[in-house]
Amino acid sequence: MLGPPDPGPPNVTQQPFRSPKGTHDVLPEDHQYMTYIKKAVRHRARQAGYKRIDTPMFEYRGVFERGIGEHTDVVEKELFTVTGNKNAEDAATSDSEFALRPEFTAGICRAYVEHGMQQLPQPVEFYAIGQCFRHDRPQKGRFRQFPQFDFEITGIKDPSLDAQLIHVLQKILTDLKIIDRLRLQINNIGTSESRKAFMESLKEYFTGKERFLPETDRRRLQANPLRLLDSKEEDTQILLKNAPRLEQFIADDSKQYHATVLEYLEELGVPYVENAGLVRGLDYYNQTVFEYWDQHAGAQNAVGGGGRYDGLIELLGGKPTPGIGYACGIERVIWHMKEAGIRAPDKDQVDVFVAQLGPEAKKKCLGLISELRERGVHTLGALGEASQKSQMRLADKFAARFTLLLGKMEVKEGTIILRDMAAGKQKQIKFSEAIPQIIKLLGEKNLDTYTEKDRFEDEE
Ligand code: AMP
Repeated sequence: MLGPPDPGPPNVTQQPFRSPKGTHDVLPEDHQYMTYIKKAVRHRARQAGYKRIDTPMFEYRGVFERGIGEHTDVVEKELFTVTGNKNAEDAATSDSEFALRPEFTAGICRAYVEHGMQQLPQPVEFYAIGQCFRHDRPQKGRFRQFPQFDFEITGIKDPSLDAQLIHVLQKILTDLKIIDRLRLQINNIGTSESRKAFMESLKEYFTGKERFLPETDRRRLQANPLRLLDSKEEDTQILLKNAPRLEQFIADDSKQYHATVLEYLEELGVPYVENAGLVRGLDYYNQTVFEYWDQHAGAQNAVGGGGRYDGLIELLGGKPTPGIGYACGIERVIWHMKEAGIRAPDKDQVDVFVAQLGPEAKKKCLGLISELRERGVHTLGALGEASQKSQMRLADKFAARFTLLLGKMEVKEGTIILRDMAAGKQKQIKFSEAIPQIIKLLGEKNLDTYTEKDRFEDEE
């Protein structure tokens, strides 16, 4: 079902460990992209009045089972369950199982109920950025731990909110310069009543035809017939050709709602493709559903998706409260940015490498390095006791723009050598001139200083 089992940790002591299957390290190069994407998300979120929320990475399993649906792929096959240690402290909960969040919406709605947020001015608009977990079969673009950003609007139902929510995502994908590679697919799947009626009718249609269905689809027919629609089995697809279609069960008011959402999207200049086959895999959706698909790869590896979930908060124990949201896979966004040749700005560049010779010079350099850093210059140096030549080679390897070189002679004379690494030119200047000259060469506006504004930015 889930492919070959994990090889597990190596049993030979000397064998190096690897990250668990389906997970990977985010190395500095990809962090440039992560930071860039998070900045775009936060910026657009603030403009539109969304506030940041963090819910735990794990919840009581029931939050997902009840919310997302017991017979969905995400819960049935992909939930990472966690059992608390059965020690004294956990006694009260030891029989409960927890699960790592496979998505944000259910946890955010649980928090909405728990904190009585229906008392707040509505709608309540949240965004979240963090890791999600699904015990999926790892493959290209599909991991067991993956970062998402997520937007949710709860408390008011209005087609203008559906359109505005999608518009924010459109803006983010535009800021990240990948919108031209993607297409918004949108559909209306009606109310849960119309879906129930449709499922009944599907069951009826398949009565007597069960033996033509593969085993897995026979089970789906009983548990959740809607899932037959995205079955990969050829026999099922052939039978589905003459089966009742969801559109036939959508009531007029849902159709009207959909038409208004589309009209508002047009008003906002958001292009879309109407896609009657789009249903989305989780039970809690109703009415509007949408996904951003790769123009070429289609449904495979959608970049983001979401929809309306007007029954979810009630399912989780709250008063009936409408909601709509979406989530976007950050790694898939990075993949598109790389494919499109978009580079995230490198904020980790080394501006200055300080090389030194002799204990006196090394000591003097410490103050210089500290002051340069304080002024916002990315500075490395005073590393080891290597020769001047090998320190210069190191400066080159770190791709430093400038090197400041302090030898025994310079200490005595109160000077320092400033070298422009790309130009290969150097000059001797007064030691006291080193910082002003470097700042002039880099430009005041390029200095990395921590401002009042940064203090209020949540960087995670
Ligand atoms: P979903 O709610 O399943 O449509 O997920 C929303 C978005 O999260 C998808 O469009 C993907 O970008 C991302 N995503 C979902 N599952 C995974 C996964 N296993 N690995 C990486 N990204 C994922």
